[in-house]
Amino acid sequence: MHADTPGEFDIIARYFTRHSARRDVLLGVGDDAALLQVPADRRLVAAMDTLVEGVHFPAATAADHIGYRALAVNLSDLAAMGAEPSWALLSLSLPNAEPAWLQGFADGFFGLAARHGVELVGGDTVRGPLVVTVQVLGVVESNGILKRSGAQPGDLVYVSGIPGEAAAGLNVIQTGKAGSDAAMQLRQRFERPEPRVELGRALRTLATAAMDVSDGLLTDLGKLCRASGCEATLNLDLLPASLLMRTLYDAEATERFALAGGDDYELLFTLAPERVAEFEHVVSPLALCTCIGKIARGGQAPGTVTCLRNGQTVAVNAPGFDHFARQ
Ligand code: ADP
Ligand code: MG
Repeated sequence: MHADTPGEFDIIARYFTRHSARRDVLLGVGDDAALLQVPADRRLVAAMDTLVEGVHFPAATAADHIGYRALAVNLSDLAAMGAEPSWALLSLSLPNAEPAWLQGFADGFFGLAARHGVELVGGDTVRGPLVVTVQVLGVVESNGILKRSGAQPGDLVYVSGIPGEAAAGLNVIQTGKAGSDAAMQLRQRFERPEPRVELGRALRTLATAAMDVSDGLLTDLGKLCRASGCEATLNLDLLPASLLMRTLYDAEATERFALAGGDDYELLFTLAPERVAEFEHVVSPLALCTCIGKIARGGQAPGTVTCLRNGQTVAVNAPGFDHFARQ
């Protein structure tokens, strides 16, 4: 073993123990468990996501992107609930303890954590294949929590950002389409997704339902509809155009990325038509949001999403990501 290879306790002490700035952390890293103070008038919101090398990110991904992404995908889940993130736990399985890798990972993780005032309060460190699990804990007001299940017939369907760009970014990485400015920006959409925490907070009392897009827009809209007992129409002509994608891909590939591509971590939400004016006033400074469809009553098959192009129904085959889908 290399002389400066840190042991388990050095790793925790050197890379994952930081001075606590939050007064609601009564015990952080170092004891057997963390002790946290939840405000009396709030509810605790918890989410966890795992990233596996070769499944969620390519093997050559830089450590700081992995650290950033592991937290970002979790913050995105809290954003989708309208919650305010507070604390995180990190379970790290590493094949070996390389100081440069650990430093990069910690930089990516803590850089994003600091931007959202999130504190790492515990975790686990083991040797094994590269697998990163993060749990985030946050709080939300006890009234008006954003769920997937609140969409109503007649609501408008919105999505933030430009769906598909993250999937295109992954394709750029996998196919080695490097070099151009567009390729670099698309890569960044995959490597550094922006969790829509402020948007989620603003939507909490505005939207009827919300979720984050992680498995593909079409499949995720189906999930929201199923949870709400509704159906939806998705107007393909309204999908936000991506100059970046169109620089490198044809219209067909771009649409496929937009509908089936995972990893965007944008928010998909529904809004009663009478709230649109207020929504535009409050939300337009926070993120680009586009109306892409409408909720309809759930008939025979709640969860059905009908795609329209030029007002006509079109069949679209855009299966979203499913770890256990039959090949
Ligand atoms: P135990 O064996 O009692 O579970 P550990 O030795 O695994 O404790 O962890 C010691 C302390 O360090 C605990 O507070 C734990 O939450 C924290 N910890 C371990 N690994 C990490 C990590 N990767 N990031 C943050 N905290 C960690
Ligand atoms: Mg212990």
